[in-house]
Amino acid sequence: MVLSKKLNSQKTEKKVTAWQSWEEYRDAETFTTELPKGGDIPWALFYPADYAIGSSNLGIHYVFRLLREKGIAAERFFERPIPYRSVDADTMLERFPIITAGISYEGGALSFFNWLKGAGIPLSPINRKKGDFPIVGAGGAITYINPLLLSGVCDFIVLGDALNVFDYLIECFRRYMLHSDRELLFNELAENKSILVPLIHIKNGFVANKRIPDKTMPMSDEYPMHSTWTTPKSIFGNTLLIELQRGCIRNCSYCTLPSSFGKMRFRSFDIIKEHLDEVLSKSNVTQVGLVTPEASDYPDLNKLIDYLEVRKMGISFASLRIDRLTERMITAQTCAGRHSITVAPETGLDALRLSCGKRFTNKTIIEKLSLAASKGVNQVKLYFMIGLPGETDEDIFAISELCHCIIEETGLSLILSVGAFVPKPGTPWQHQPFVGTSAIRKKYSAISSDLRTIKKKKPKLRLTSPKEAAEEFNLAWYGYNDSVELANAIEKNVPLKKHSSRESTLTELKFLW
Ligand code: SF4
Repeated sequence: MVLSKKLNSQKTEKKVTAWQSWEEYRDAETFTTELPKGGDIPWALFYPADYAIGSSNLGIHYVFRLLREKGIAAERFFERPIPYRSVDADTMLERFPIITAGISYEGGALSFFNWLKGAGIPLSPINRKKGDFPIVGAGGAITYINPLLLSGVCDFIVLGDALNVFDYLIECFRRYMLHSDRELLFNELAENKSILVPLIHIKNGFVANKRIPDKTMPMSDEYPMHSTWTTPKSIFGNTLLIELQRGCIRNCSYCTLPSSFGKMRFRSFDIIKEHLDEVLSKSNVTQVGLVTPEASDYPDLNKLIDYLEVRKMGISFASLRIDRLTERMITAQTCAGRHSITVAPETGLDALRLSCGKRFTNKTIIEKLSLAASKGVNQVKLYFMIGLPGETDEDIFAISELCHCIIEETGLSLILSVGAFVPKPGTPWQHQPFVGTSAIRKKYSAISSDLRTIKKKKPKLRLTSPKEAAEEFNLAWYGYNDSVELANAIEKNVPLKKHSSRESTLTELKFLW
């Protein structure tokens, strides 16, 4: 029901008028590396979000750069503000025989399908065979977790670290541009163990051939490691993002990262420095964003901070684990004029937090935030999760109590961001229940009224939509047949049923993990 409302409310028939242009966006971009212009295959790269959000996703930066460097005429498309023209040259989507999307999360798949429909492209791979329609493919973070969500629509799905299969993909597409034989293309793609071709690999609703997602991309300098372009129009502003690490050794019960993204591996400081030297020598970037699952795990973090400070670069961290927060990390941010930090206590009580796999206490949170306040931080954004397995009313009440203590002890201004726990495939808590929208609303309302009792420095509260959490849960567990039905529902604007049982999706996923 929730999903069907969203489907019907989305504007899929977006009109593109002749005067729409990405010119002001192009003019604002600075490229960190010179890319070849043109190429032999027009290839549309789509990111299912606003340009500002897409520009902060390193995946599309990497893919765009690699395709161009390999002689492909790749152009970037975003869902908004101009959906069917490329950022690079205002080229209309209909000029592209190949369309691929980078899908990071479940809602992105829904946006991708709606965008295709809005372009007049049939969602069913079988229906696309009947006309001169483009080949549709996808990759991205969702393919490490549950690629079946994409399997009812995509002709091919690259599983895991896509950069390793680029040469193979490009060879297949170069041959396709000569022979135009879809069947031959699909057969060739299907031979690669890290590519899923649903029309070939899925028989009677089940994956018939074992596929192996690639999780081995080395952190060497053979691969891109930083933003391909910077722009003040990104949600992070004019920041150069640099990826330090992949994978995580911790095993938080709700997190998809440890099981999905392979062994924890780091880029060496020397390689990063070499690349930063080159980029910073020819650009006017003043801010560097360090991209890691947990910044403090990076072994050469202090060396890197020292180097960036010498280069007079502002530093921001994609994530900070409160128990590993150091004075050096705090001052790196405050010296650059950033007086706000973001941390994730997740729960109000220690025992529930421990059951999530987060081994730090409220005492540690308060000590570390007191340190942050003493070093110039004046605001903290706190992430909490509700609906966790084993959670009680006491845990919900403890959220406002913890906030109260933080304000009393540190004087910091607080912004609380509260979301619901969504059990995902491949996590230790994959079998745990999703609490549902009415329970989420009740818990939200308890938190709101508890927070009203705080009089001094009243925290700001941001609540994630219960409907969106329910939609995320639904889509996270889609099997192949569900994905086919999703495509039908979008095409016909009809309500959609709930996903199949989790057990049946897990059985299907055994052939993809
Ligand atoms: S939540 Fe953070 S620390 Fe925990 S497993 Fe995920 S990435 Fe690692």
